[in-house]
Amino acid sequence: MSTPLRSFRSLRVLATLVLAATLHLPATALAQAPDSAAKKKAAGIDWNERAAPWGKLKNVPIDAQQKNAFRLFDNVHYVGLQTVAAYLIKTSEGLVLMDAAYANTTDLLLANIRRAGFDPKNIKYLIVTHAHGDHFAGAGTIVALSGAKVIMSDLDWTETERRQSTGLPANGIRLKRDLVVKDGETLNIGDTEFTFYVTPGHTAGALTTVFTVTDGTDSYRAVCPGGLGFNFGPAWTEPYIKSFERLKELGPFQTVLPNHAYMGPRDLFDVERDLAAGVPDGHPAGYGPKRINAWFDQILDAARQKLAYEQQNPGPAAR
Ligand SMILES: [Zn+2]
Repeated sequence: MSTPLRSFRSLRVLATLVLAATLHLPATALAQAPDSAAKKKAAGIDWNERAAPWGKLKNVPIDAQQKNAFRLFDNVHYVGLQTVAAYLIKTSEGLVLMDAAYANTTDLLLANIRRAGFDPKNIKYLIVTHAHGDHFAGAGTIVALSGAKVIMSDLDWTETERRQSTGLPANGIRLKRDLVVKDGETLNIGDTEFTFYVTPGHTAGALTTVFTVTDGTDSYRAVCPGGLGFNFGPAWTEPYIKSFERLKELGPFQTVLPNHAYMGPRDLFDVERDLAAGVPDGHPAGYGPKRINAWFDQILDAARQKLAYEQQNPGPAAR
């Protein structure tokens, strides 16, 4: 146990350099999240690469982020980027957008919404999973266009305000505090019920959403975790573990909508390929509770490795 950890420790400087070069956020977005970059540096080890089921965070420059929209479920279209997810959810009372990507990718998002056959002006609500620039910074432009109500947890509204007070997003429209949802709260939008859970870890107020997706006559209970990646400091490792233990208990879930396409039980672009090919046995993202719980266990195992390392190696960034 101690040998691999020690060898990783000796690679700390190298790991830090590699991390700095391989963050999934492009240079423009890095400018939007300086504190999270500092946290990653302070942490030394890249726990995404070392232990997470999704591996190293993907780094794709803005000009290579375009990804065509696709219908994932009857009521859910993927309208996001190569690395950052965004979902358009159709309800009987208009559209709900889950996350808005970067400030400078809003054109890609809007083109995808239109490509999926919808008018962005019909977006009634915008749920922001957490207060990082790759999820909230594009929201201001969507609001200006649609008048959508923006939903976040109280803590992540505060974090969004803090980030905006430092001049971010650099080239986007700033958000004003709008709808605040509390842990366990439910919002009915037309025929669709959304239940929210505040699941701290990735950020202090990462907001998990649970709702039902449909495919023909089948329906699936879907979970969209508020934040997955291990790019957070040691103070947040225990809350992260508690949040994922809780999410597992909140199951059973039949599918996962990860806020980065490659972070779920399967890469959603593989799911897209199977959907296009017409895989015969059910929906390719209808993973079922057993597989989803195994994925939760992988996440928890990685987080516990991170915690054990941090407890054995308390540094200045530990609290
Ligand atoms: Zn994030």
